[in-house]
Amino acid sequence: MAMLSVIVPAFNEQAGLAVTFKTLEQALAPIAMPFEILFVDDGSRDETWDIIRNLVPVDPQNRVRGVHFSRNFGKEAAIFAGLEAADGDCVVVMDADLQHPPEKIVEMVELWRQGYEVIEGKKEDRGEETGLHRGFSHLFYKLISRFSGMNMADSSDFKLLDRKVVDALNRMPERNTFFRALSFWAGYRRATVTYRVQERQYGESKWSTFSLIRYAVRNIASFSVLPMQLVTFMGGILFVVASLMSIIALVQKFCGKALGGFTTVIILVMFSSSIIMFSLGIIGFYIAQIYEEVKNRPRYLIAERYNSANSEDK
Ligand code: UDP
Ligand code: MG
Repeated sequence: MAMLSVIVPAFNEQAGLAVTFKTLEQALAPIAMPFEILFVDDGSRDETWDIIRNLVPVDPQNRVRGVHFSRNFGKEAAIFAGLEAADGDCVVVMDADLQHPPEKIVEMVELWRQGYEVIEGKKEDRGEETGLHRGFSHLFYKLISRFSGMNMADSSDFKLLDRKVVDALNRMPERNTFFRALSFWAGYRRATVTYRVQERQYGESKWSTFSLIRYAVRNIASFSVLPMQLVTFMGGILFVVASLMSIIALVQKFCGKALGGFTTVIILVMFSSSIIMFSLGIIGFYIAQIYEEVKNRPRYLIAERYNSANSEDK
């Protein structure tokens, strides 16, 4: 019989992981299908791991498993660790804070049974986000959709994937993964389920503004080389301007009334060197990304795994 795996990445979620488990368990009852819940503890510094370890023996049907990272590797790494460890014929990824309503999983499974292979959770609204945050994420998805040619507005990490898709993602070699876009890139038969983003049920968001900006820039870079072509474009514009200026300068020189020297020169030099440095920065960023990839380090390190077999030992 087919099985469902639910991957729940958790970083410092001690405040309500037990509630998440209860809610999930109840929400999954109607699917009439065996399931496992896979908590990936992303190197939490609080009691999260102990809570997971206690949940394993609490569940009489051994449906709970836990993976514990050696440190915080980020949500992307946690999702991919989950995909690698999952045994299900279909796999759902959802947040630990219940912002992704677990009842929707029933709908997703229904679509999966109809033969869809990627079921995307789409945000109906963006919940509690503040104006600035909303503006930024809007801009980010506009940019990334334009740059990568994939329409990802309102997409989220709340998804159901068929085993085929999970295997495909597991084969992807890159270190710097972007789950949302990769599952989009993979193709397959797709369907969407819209959901209302719930308020975070407990604890607080783990993302600072800085980490969100870094996430956005990295992901744009990992899906598009357009910023590098921008460098060529800027070079072209500068060349046109330079040609015009040269002609003007030469004409004026031969007419015997040269431009006022120093001011013009300093403006031009500063302007063009800032463009050059800006361009070097863009290229440097891509080189840094290449460097990260060629080091070929593992995406995450697992310090401990916990499942019913472990808990029987103890
Ligand atoms: N998360 C994680 N590692 C991190 C940050 C977050 O595994 O470094 C998990 C977190 O525990 C939660 C999910 O990713 O299950 C979404 O995080 P959060 O709710 O903080 O983000 P938001 O909902 O504000 O986008
Ligand atoms: Mg959240």
